[in-house]
Amino acid sequence: MEKIIVGNFKMNLTKEEILSYIKEMKKSKYHKKAIYCPSSIYIPYFIEANLKVGVQNISSFEVGAHTGEISAKQIKSVGASYVIIGHSERREKETEEEIQKKIEKAIKENLKVIFCIGEKEEEIEKREEILKKQIENSIENMPKENIIIAYEPVWSIGTGLTMKKEEIRKVSLYIKSVVKEKCKVLYGGSVNEKNIEDLSKIEEIDGFLVGGASLNPEVFLKMIEVAVTM
Ligand code: PEP
Repeated sequence: MEKIIVGNFKMNLTKEEILSYIKEMKKSKYHKKAIYCPSSIYIPYFIEANLKVGVQNISSFEVGAHTGEISAKQIKSVGASYVIIGHSERREKETEEEIQKKIEKAIKENLKVIFCIGEKEEEIEKREEILKKQIENSIENMPKENIIIAYEPVWSIGTGLTMKKEEIRKVSLYIKSVVKEKCKVLYGGSVNEKNIEDLSKIEEIDGFLVGGASLNPEVFLKMIEVAVTM
């Protein structure tokens, strides 16, 4: 089945690099299948190219005196459709209450939420308890149609350490059982052009959230093709 594939560019690439990235991506028809999450300032370039685009964060507030913040409504108004919320690199700076408010604001604007959860290395033994708490604290009473869960073990992000296939399968089923309603679960954590084919065989996951490997257009194109044609 066709998998969802999301590229999280984090705080990388300049305007020139973004423009040449898009030009490179257009060389393959598969480029339209991915969801791109660059820095917010670059959203218009992806919209112009007719690509699915999201941001990496939004404000927990709706409007007003919040210098430096960008609201869900503003993101929606420039044409983005997705937002990553609760990424582990942001969780270090925000509370679960803020994460919950951000999800609420995003849903109100009809943005699709890519809600990241995952345990740290020292929490592996109590993984299920951690994931359950992250889910219950942030999305328990929310409508689930616009929420995609991205399971990203923190120890696997940017480290080259990928979780074993059998374990990913087990965790995905666990997450789906906690959410209860139908929901999509992505895996993220050092997914690259070498392991994506094997990981795509896991039927219990619905796609991938890719960090580092999404920054190279040639590499990401190959990954998209595998993810959507396997
Ligand atoms: C991420 O930051 O969401 C991520 C999965 O990064 P990487 O693919 O580089 O591990």
